[in-house]
Formats: sequence, structure tokens, C-alpha cells
Amino acid sequence: MSEEYNKNDKNDNIETEFTEENHTDIQKEDVSDTAAAEEAAQDSDDDDDYEMICCMCHRPESKAGKMITMPGGIVICSDCMQKAFDTFDKNGSPYGVNVNIPGNGQGGLDLSGLSNMPGVGVINLADLGLGEREIPKNQKVKKKKAKDEKPKFDRRVIPAPHKIKKMLDEYVVGQEKAKKAISVAVYNHYKRVGSDNADGVEIEKSNMLLLGPTGSGKTYLVKTLARLLDVPLAIADATSLTEAGYIGDDIESVVSKLLAAAGNDVEKAERGIIYIDEIDKIAKKRNTNTRDVSGESVQQELLKMLEGSEVEVPVGANSKNAMVPMTTVNTTNILFICGGAFPDLEEIIKERLTKESSIGFKAELKDKYDKEENLLCKAEIDDLRKFGMIPEFLGRLPVLVSLEALTKEFMVRILKEPRNAILKQYEKLLQMDEVQLLFEDEALEAIAEKAMEKHTGARALRAILEEYMLDIMYEIPKDDNIGRVTITRAYIEKTGGPIIDMRGVMRLGVHA
Ligand code: ADP
Repeated sequence: MSEEYNKNDKNDNIETEFTEENHTDIQKEDVSDTAAAEEAAQDSDDDDDYEMICCMCHRPESKAGKMITMPGGIVICSDCMQKAFDTFDKNGSPYGVNVNIPGNGQGGLDLSGLSNMPGVGVINLADLGLGEREIPKNQKVKKKKAKDEKPKFDRRVIPAPHKIKKMLDEYVVGQEKAKKAISVAVYNHYKRVGSDNADGVEIEKSNMLLLGPTGSGKTYLVKTLARLLDVPLAIADATSLTEAGYIGDDIESVVSKLLAAAGNDVEKAERGIIYIDEIDKIAKKRNTNTRDVSGESVQQELLKMLEGSEVEVPVGANSKNAMVPMTTVNTTNILFICGGAFPDLEEIIKERLTKESSIGFKAELKDKYDKEENLLCKAEIDDLRKFGMIPEFLGRLPVLVSLEALTKEFMVRILKEPRNAILKQYEKLLQMDEVQLLFEDEALEAIAEKAMEKHTGARALRAILEEYMLDIMYEIPKDDNIGRVTITRAYIEKTGGPIIDMRGVMRLGVHA
């Protein structure tokens, strides 16, 4: 067991999955993304690897030349600064201010005219030391390598599909078909990134659409995948996206998040993964007379990005504004994964299946599919179109993957099997107090039953377990003589308590 714990140590990040899972709101993701970016920016390469961007023309230092730093972390290139002063001059500066920006030639800021004005004092910018002001790293982008030194992506760093699946197996319980399909799609995607089109054969993108009930592990699967492959990941919620110009996040904001997750390294971001959750919420609205700014229009706007386009995104901020520097990210090699629960899709599938089977000899009873658990696995593109997804959008998500609904047995396995399983985490916590924690199988089933009642998938498991473990975690450290605690079904059903065994008198073998 201790070996297992050591392994867990290495995977501390994933433990946060459990703590975050009840807070799926996008703001939280924002914060964590920005934090990740800052951390990445700090950890990663030296300052020298990053360059500043002019807040007016948005050109990086490598193109625009020396930058001038202004109060508030604003950076402006000498060309733009010169232009600004020229305009000022043209419009008639009555006091004969003559400005020449250093770096553009002669240099020098002649404010003698101003100083002749009665009551006007001239401040020397250099005295303020503004030029030395530190620009926050999240407003700089990593320098792009010159064309000839651009390293080609070595696809050999991406493991073969069976290896990817094996890695996923350690964290994600069940969902065999989905794991297999994702492993192959990801492998092919990175093959495509590392290939050239010299022979004229261009491999198409293998963007994915994940279908699965809420809490069935869609986000978890993508997060685990990105972490194992060590590629940046941005998670966005389709519900917050609206057509440009309307209240809500612009489509570009998802790329901006990815850039932040990649530590403002554009090249790294261009090979990352973007997961757009709740994609079913941008289905075409039926029977509506108003403009559908958060449904069909969002699908339309996403089309270009899914296929591959140059997107201008703000650096170090979520929205564009005049003061935020911008950079361009090419989405051609970004893998897009969209996920959704598609609640009413089952009805559409049922209708189609019943219709198909009512023709000819295969005529079946009308309610044959009513009890079927995993109807989503039978989804076809036509069903999704009927649901309200536009054909062009579906065409850009060629890999369709369905996740199974979680059963009670599944829930029990999720509790104890993954490498960072929630039970292992509690066992580890108590082991630090030299107390052994055991769960009777019956108790695990009772927890799973309670989770099933909540209809939020595996997400409910942690909340339920936390409720019961609170007292245990509070009481046990009080008494040094306690050597073992066994959680029983009676304790979960509140008809009894846990079994407490004292050190020295432990009935060995009884609960193990
Ligand atoms: P979804 O995105 O499908 O709504 P999540 O990915 O957020 O669901 O899943 C919620 C939590 O449930 C995850 O954080 C994970 O801990 C757990 N979980 C769900 N399915 C599995 C699984 N197959 N194996 C291990 N853990 C899972």
C-alpha cells in the first residue's frame, strides 16, 4: 500500500480534481487558468525568452523595435509613440513642443517650449525611472523562433494509442470504448501536427465530440489526457459564449485561456487542447423569434476556429480592450474537444430506432427502448442535427465518442480503483495518524446508492463521503489508542456507527 501512496504523491495535481469538481463555474476555471499561467510564466524560461508587445499596433518587440514603458505597465513602440506626438504637433502645439523618440533616430524630447509657459513645470520622464518599470510577465509573449530555426514537432513524444489508453486506465474507471477512441484520435491528431503535406495528402483534424450524462467523466477524461501528454489545456463553458458584440465571452476568449495555460508561449498553445463543455447548450433554439446570439450564431462563429484560423487574442486578460496587448494564435493544430450531456437527445434516438424497427419484419414493441440505459451510445450525426447542432459544426467534429451512464457498480469502482481514488486519499490521511481505515463493501454500495439518487454522476461521491468522514476525521485524532476504523453500511445509513478497534486488541483478520 505504501508504494501506492508514493505513486499518489507524484500525482498530487489530480487530487485537486476532486476538490474542484463541485465548482464547475467558469470563473473558477478562469482563476485557475490565470494562476497556472502565472506559475508557468514564473517557472518556465528566463525573462529573456519573453518579449513585449506594443499596446497600440500589437507588434512584438522583435518586429517593432525598442519599446517604451509607461506608467501602469503600458508598453508602446517608438513608432506609435512618434505618431502620437506627430499628431499632437500637427494639431498645433502652441508651445513649440518638439519630440523625437529615442530609438527612432536622433532621439530627444524637447519640452523647452512648455517650460516657458507660465505656471507649467516640466517633468523629466527619465527622472521618474519609468523606463525601468517591470512589465507583468502575463502581458508579454514568448519570443517566436525565427522561421529557419523552428523545430518541427516530434510526434514520437506522443505515446502510441495503447500506451495512452493504459495511462488513462490508471485514472479513469471503465469507459473502455471512449478511452480507446480518444487515444486513437489524439495520436492521429499529433501525427497530423508532425506531418508535412509535401506529398499533397493533408490529414484532416480529428476534433472530438463527447456525449455523456452529467458527471460521467467527460471533463475528467480530457483533463487527465492533457496532463498525461503534458500539453496545455483550456476548459471553457459554451453557455457563457455569445456572438461577438453581445454580453458574454467572445469565442476568442477560449484561445486566450489556452495561451494563458501555456504560459503565454504561442507555439506551445498552438499544440494544446481546448475543451468546450456544455456544447449542447448552443444548439439552435427552436421556435424563437429573437436573434439567437448564444446558440446557432456561436456555432457559426466556432466553425472557423475549429477548422483552423488565425485568432487575435488579448495577452494576460480575458477581454480585448485598448490597453491590452494582443497576439495572434493559429488554431490549425489545436485539438478541440466538445462535450455535452445532450439531455433530450435520447428521445430523438428512441424515436429513430422505433421508426426503423417498425418497418418490415423487424417490427418491435413501441416501448422497447424505454428502459435502455445507454441510448447515447447509439447516437448518429442525424440525431444531433435534429437536436439543433448545425451540420457544418458537426462536420468539424468528426470523432463522435459516447460515455456510458454510471451504474452503482461503476460508482463503487470509482471510489476505490483510480490511482488517486478518493478512498485512497482518506486512507492516506488517517495513516499519517497511524490509524487504519477500512470500508466494508456494503458501506461502499450504500454510498454509491446515495450518489445515484442525486443524479449528478460521480460528482456526488466526494460530497457524500466528506459528510460521513467529517466526524471520523475530527474524533479519531483525539484518542491515540485507536488503531483501526471500519466504515459500515449502518454508519452510512445512520442506523449505527463505525467499528472502532483499539491498538493492541485489534481483532486481526476480521475486517481486512
Ligand atoms: P462531466 O464533465 O461528464 O459532467 P466530470 O468529468 O466533471 O463529469 O466528472 C466528475 C468527477 O467524477 C470527476 O472529477 C472524477 O473525479 C469523477 N469521475 C467521473 N467518471 C469517472 C471515471 N470513469 N473514473 C474515475 N473518476 C471519474
